[in-house]
Amino acid sequence: MFKTLKDLEIDGKTVFIRCDFNVPIDEFGNITDDRRIRSALPTIRYCIDRDCKVVLASHFERPEPGKFEEKYSLYPVYKRLDTLLKIKKELYFDDSKSGEVISKRALELFEKLEPRDVLLLENLRFDPGETKDDLEFAKQLSQFGEFYINDAFGACHRKHASIHAIASLYDKEHKGAGFLLAKEVNFFHKVLENPSRPFVAVVGGSKVSGKLEALNRLISKVDKIIIGGGMAFTFLKAQGYEVGNSLVEEDLIDEARTIMYKAKKNKVKFYLPVDVVVAPEFSDHTTVKYLPSQEIPEEWMGLDIGPASTRLFREALNDAHTIMWNGPMGVYEMEKFAKGSIKMSHYIAESHATTIVGGGDTADVAARAGDVDEMTFVSTGGGASLKLIEGEELPGITALES
Ligand code: AMP
Repeated sequence: MFKTLKDLEIDGKTVFIRCDFNVPIDEFGNITDDRRIRSALPTIRYCIDRDCKVVLASHFERPEPGKFEEKYSLYPVYKRLDTLLKIKKELYFDDSKSGEVISKRALELFEKLEPRDVLLLENLRFDPGETKDDLEFAKQLSQFGEFYINDAFGACHRKHASIHAIASLYDKEHKGAGFLLAKEVNFFHKVLENPSRPFVAVVGGSKVSGKLEALNRLISKVDKIIIGGGMAFTFLKAQGYEVGNSLVEEDLIDEARTIMYKAKKNKVKFYLPVDVVVAPEFSDHTTVKYLPSQEIPEEWMGLDIGPASTRLFREALNDAHTIMWNGPMGVYEMEKFAKGSIKMSHYIAESHATTIVGGGDTADVAARAGDVDEMTFVSTGGGASLKLIEGEELPGITALES
């Protein structure tokens, strides 16, 4: 098991914190959801309160390494942090626009740091070494901290220099998990290993392929599985229904059948949409019909679950003590096909169960539905949470443990 910030003697020391500030930004450069920044505050504040000099680093989107581009700069994150981190003495940011992470300016600012000051470095992916897990780059980063703290749950499934290579440069007394990372990992472990039952998984999203491993593992853990979203059509087709132009992964039809067979064998109740919202084209302005799943017309596609399905799923959720939700029930980005996802979000939020929401899209649905505060736990990492459900080890976590 890894150490957490509380186990380390960081008082008055320099601490390098790898955060996940990869927040969504609109076309005007506004941060549309700052949950990831706010979630990192407890760790940052804890270090400030212990008179540390704090250096923060994060990736942001996928810039071309070595080239500064405004749209990939962490500057908006710096501004938001400045608003949120009210107790800081000084928050510095490398504004040299050099396209380097370890720039002259960053080093100058670092030299200037006093206890309780904070420095935010530029986007780690401006350096080509970051995504290559380059040890040299990791060494350069490690000069910014006597201690290494990883609080970037959303990036822990990636073998990158600031997540993986850098951890090998610190012994166990000098590295550990931030509060957010520890909370995310403990939560998923606790729920997957010892859930309060009935345990219901609600799985949606576009494709079976992306969630195949997770579905296979969940089958041996849960009492019920509810399937919605695009992936439902591969299962419906596997049951012999015609699904028109709906999203189907033909090569996974057999796999879908196997999953349903396994569910039956494990006495896991398996729920598919009984009705769907169909449209002749993938557009918000198209005509729609509400039809039973057995009656999807040839040229039409299913883009949301219908009202009978939401009622059925609500019944199935009724006695749940634990609900894990990953993946929207329909194309929720378009208003016409958002209702199924929004309603499911309300039902999950209203239930008395422990509710865990994983995945960026799913968290987005919960936010649009206004349900985030009603969920027990909304994970900040989509890919990483899926890997945990699959039972895979995350490179960022194993690196903290070794
Ligand atoms: P994922 O990344 O696999 O969780 O998938 C999320 C995406 O699935 C969202 O962008 C949804 O628009 C999409 N999605 C959900 N339901 C459907 C559907 N019936 N047909 C096509 N795409 C869908």
